[in-house]
Amino acid sequence: MILVVGAGPIGIEMAIELSRRNVPFRIVEAGSTASTIEWYAPGTEIFSSPERIAIADIPFEPQTRKAFREDYLVYLRNVVRQFKLPIEHYRRVVRIEKSTADNFKVAIAPSSHGVGGPLEEAETPESFSDIETLEVEKIILAIGNLHVPQLSNVPGEDSTWVSHYMSEPHRYSGTRVTIVGSGNSAAEAAIRLYHVGAFVTLCHRNEGFRPKRIKPWLLPELENLIKEGKIQVVTNFQLKEITRSFTMGSNDREIVSIASDFVLLLTGYRQKTDLFDQLGVTLVDAQPIVDLNTMETNVPNVYVIGTAAAGTESGGVKTFIENAHVHVNRVLHALKLIERAHITLDRPVDEREI
Ligand SMILES: Cc1cc2nc3c(=O)[nH]c(=O)nc-3n(C[C@H](O)[C@H](O)[C@H](O)COP(=O)(O)OP(=O)(O)OC[C@H]3O[C@@H](n4cnc5c(N)ncnc54)[C@H](O)[C@@H]3O)c2cc1C
Repeated sequence: MILVVGAGPIGIEMAIELSRRNVPFRIVEAGSTASTIEWYAPGTEIFSSPERIAIADIPFEPQTRKAFREDYLVYLRNVVRQFKLPIEHYRRVVRIEKSTADNFKVAIAPSSHGVGGPLEEAETPESFSDIETLEVEKIILAIGNLHVPQLSNVPGEDSTWVSHYMSEPHRYSGTRVTIVGSGNSAAEAAIRLYHVGAFVTLCHRNEGFRPKRIKPWLLPELENLIKEGKIQVVTNFQLKEITRSFTMGSNDREIVSIASDFVLLLTGYRQKTDLFDQLGVTLVDAQPIVDLNTMETNVPNVYVIGTAAAGTESGGVKTFIENAHVHVNRVLHALKLIERAHITLDRPVDEREI
């Protein structure tokens, strides 16, 4: 029996390919189908072209050139239904250990949401009950890598008006919002919140935006809004403290206090490594090490696919849905289910697409 952990796009794609070959498997997901995409803010535009994030050769043709979060969720739901994929939703793998030379013992507990997103962040450590244990021979971890925010570790970060996630833009209409972050999420949030009538101050740690880190179609609009004074910007910003009324920090010249009703700290996310640690998977620089021909880790019969294989990414995101499809083929090949893995050259994704 094979256990696939995680029903994001790549876990689903893996499960479809196993089911197409009548291989016995189970797939468990701590939240809903594609729970990472579920927690994107409503109306988020997906930067990848639709055909590059289609899975298992099922066409994805939204009405607009770029798909939105909602289009992709509909697509993934329909693919899951079309293949009658037996995803066990709201079931979280909480422990995996070697039981015999050939088997792993896996503990699965009921879960109220996916691993990652604001609900995961708000959670106090769960004590799991109603645990089911099962024995499996092979484990495929498609668990993603956006599990918990990279914290700024400043006083006030845990206040209710501070978040590491943008939610429904309307919530911020008519309010003063300070956004801290230097990447795409911060740039996109600044533009979207300006358009719903928020008074936005964007604080980033560098001298200016790096074109390579921002979607090419966002940068001109952002630069214009800044030039016209519609979005305020603070460069070389070091965050120090957040109080009820102010976001406080400094840049290279002065102390900066920004009047704020809401603060969004969009400074990236990191991967939870508990399953890797329990299994003894080797991590180097927070990345699980796999054989790139098979996606198998140093623990025989444990595979890591999708963005999970990238670990916590720093200095720019390089693994996406579009360059992770090939992981599925590599596992199929390793399991001797296809003759050869597709010879897909991992196209280096332009950093601007991050
Ligand atoms: C705002 C935003 C926009 C993005 N836009 C794009 C884009 O345009 N293109 C792109 O390619 N990427 C984009 N990404 C990144 C994107 O989310 C990932 O590329 C995609 O979701 C990765 O798919 P995946 O299947 O590898 O992992 P995920 O989709 O992260 O799926 C992992 C799943 O595993 C589950 N899981 C984890 N641990 C356990 C456990 N212990 N037990 C059970 N289940 C578990 C999680 O709940 C989750 O559902 C974006 C991210 C954000 C935040």
